[in-house]
Amino acid sequence: MLFCLQQSFVIAATSEQIDLKNWEYRWGDSPFVDGQPEWVMHPHKNHADWQPIADPTYPPGRQGQNNIWFRITLPESHLVDPVVFISSIDLITEVYLDQQLIYRFGEFDVNGRGDYAGWPWHMIGLPDDFAGRTLYFRVYSDYTDIGLWGEKKLLERSAALLNILNNSHGDLAISAFFLFIALITFAFSAMRGDNQFIYLGLFSLVSAGNLLGESQALQLWIYAPLAKTYLAAISYFSIPIFIALILHYWLREQSGKLMLRIAQMHIAYVLLCLLLSLTGVWHLAYFYPLFDILFIITMAIMLWICVQHFQAMSPEQRMVMGAFGCYAIFFLIDMVIAHGLVPWINFPLAYGGLIFASVLVLISLRQYRQTQQAVSELNVLLEKRVTERTAALQNYVLLEQQRANQLALINEFSLRLETLIGRVQRCQNLQEAGKIIREQLNNVFAPIQLHVSIINELTDLPANAVLSDKYRIEVEDLQLGKQTFITFELLDIDTETAETQQAIEQFIFRAIDRLSVTLSGIKLREDLQVMSFEDSLTGLKNRRFFDDALQRELQLAQRHQQTISLLICDIDHFKQFNDRFGHEAGDMALRMVAALMLEHFRETDIPCRYGGEEFVVLMPAADIQDALERAKTLLEKIAAKTIIYQDKALGRLTISIGISSWNGEGNIPKMMLLDADKALYQAKQAGRNRVVVSNPHAVI
Ligand code: GH3
Ligand code: MG
Ligand code: MG
Repeated sequence: MLFCLQQSFVIAATSEQIDLKNWEYRWGDSPFVDGQPEWVMHPHKNHADWQPIADPTYPPGRQGQNNIWFRITLPESHLVDPVVFISSIDLITEVYLDQQLIYRFGEFDVNGRGDYAGWPWHMIGLPDDFAGRTLYFRVYSDYTDIGLWGEKKLLERSAALLNILNNSHGDLAISAFFLFIALITFAFSAMRGDNQFIYLGLFSLVSAGNLLGESQALQLWIYAPLAKTYLAAISYFSIPIFIALILHYWLREQSGKLMLRIAQMHIAYVLLCLLLSLTGVWHLAYFYPLFDILFIITMAIMLWICVQHFQAMSPEQRMVMGAFGCYAIFFLIDMVIAHGLVPWINFPLAYGGLIFASVLVLISLRQYRQTQQAVSELNVLLEKRVTERTAALQNYVLLEQQRANQLALINEFSLRLETLIGRVQRCQNLQEAGKIIREQLNNVFAPIQLHVSIINELTDLPANAVLSDKYRIEVEDLQLGKQTFITFELLDIDTETAETQQAIEQFIFRAIDRLSVTLSGIKLREDLQVMSFEDSLTGLKNRRFFDDALQRELQLAQRHQQTISLLICDIDHFKQFNDRFGHEAGDMALRMVAALMLEHFRETDIPCRYGGEEFVVLMPAADIQDALERAKTLLEKIAAKTIIYQDKALGRLTISIGISSWNGEGNIPKMMLLDADKALYQAKQAGRNRVVVSNPHAVI
């Protein structure tokens, strides 16, 4: 594209352009007379001192001289607005057309010397009648080079301007491209914080600066030759800094700190150059040859390192090295041209920089794309992980919530169970406790529905109830061992989670244990109570019970003025029976008599074993007649009963009975038991197997 553009401009500029050849030169400076150089005043004087030279570049025989004159006789032409165009002059000049000063660059002092003023191109306007006249260049240079450089042409002003544009547009376009690269690489570095982009951006920036500084066109808009030269020089000297830093970045492992050192050295060189040139110690121009030497060394080192590590490099690193190698070749050619080792051409060094920068940008963009891909893949992975973690966390939170709910539920159950157990503990007997449990066990497990049954009292179940004997509350019986007392079933536990069901089940087993212990306590208490009032051999109430009952019944009878009778029964000749059949047979006989008595008397009568083979019967509301009749029939029943022990008939027993009775009038006799005992004694005395009533003393 750039080449095409250049081509089209070149075609437009093909008007008459005469290369100025056949020059003459003369070392030294002309003496001045009345402010006029003598050499222009008398052009033919000492004619032999003027030496012919085809091109006024590198005039021979300098021998440390800093002043030189060049002259040329201008050819015929048909130019309308003629100018002489010169690419560059080392270093300052005054131009005379015959005796007339027509152009000046830099300031000559009285000794014919002057300060460096930059390296602009020169366009020297000529009058129409220039043909055949002599053009003189008074030149001063304390630089390594002295003379006129590049193009020396006679041409139309417009053609010269067009040439300048032709020579510059490529550089301008490339410098614009460099600026663009700088812009995007700075943007990248801001986004990614990657040094590589900063280096690349700075490299592009100095390359652009160098091109602008070198470009001929810039001078058309801004005439500041020294500033322009500074721009060109400083940016040119800075190029290796950023090449070194870029290579340092790319070849980090391979080059170690060497590239960094090279970059530091070039930074130091740039600073030194600025310091010395700005303070006027050294001309800026002097730094070029030294820089070129430094740069050649630098590039040689860089290339050496690259070649050495080429095997170990990644394909991308190799591409960077290839591009750098290409750029280095461009530089070398440019230097060779600059130092006049080959004929001067307008060499496009910028293209080398462009290739280098473009390769780096392409690789960076590729890397960037790969990173972006990796990042997006990582993002997908991360999102997946985050989703998984979130789900796990939510699940965990849910489980924790369930656990907390479970704990709260079980805690609630425990509190209610304690309340129930408190109530159960206050019950007098097992029956009462069972009733409370049946009524209130549901409350403990609310809202879970229960079906509770007291054993042997199973009521109608709801349709959906599957009654299992899973939950049984057992009661410890002293004689029978563990006995199931209550069964219950949870009806709607299935709505709970498996964990909650498990927790509830554990609680149920704890509750069952607690209730079993509580109920067993009640049962034990009840048993002990029974045992303390009951005769263990016969099952009748014992003497302690009788004593209480006698007191109570006598008081009741007195209060209600109700008849009451008391019987004392004693087995006749029981000692003989024991002696004859043994004690166990005696026990057996006692149990039989007791059973007969229980069966014989009314529900309201209270038969008790008073001790040994003696029995008492308290008959509330019975008058003497009732008591007598009951006693007589008992006597008959016992006398009629054959005692069988171990399948052997042991004969029969008789009893004697003493009765005392109160008719419900007046005061109850205090010694009713004694009266009955006396009556019994009388019955014994009277021959046994009979009933005696204490008052009236009747013997049957
Ligand atoms: P009596 O007709 O005068 O009442 O003569 P008895 O032999 O029945 O009277 P006694 O008072 O001399 O003897 C009572 C006997 O009862 C003595 C004792 O061996 C017997 N006995 C008392 N308690 C028990 C018991 O629990 N089991 C057995 N096998 N015998 C008992
Ligand atoms: Mg007795
Ligand atoms: Mg007796």
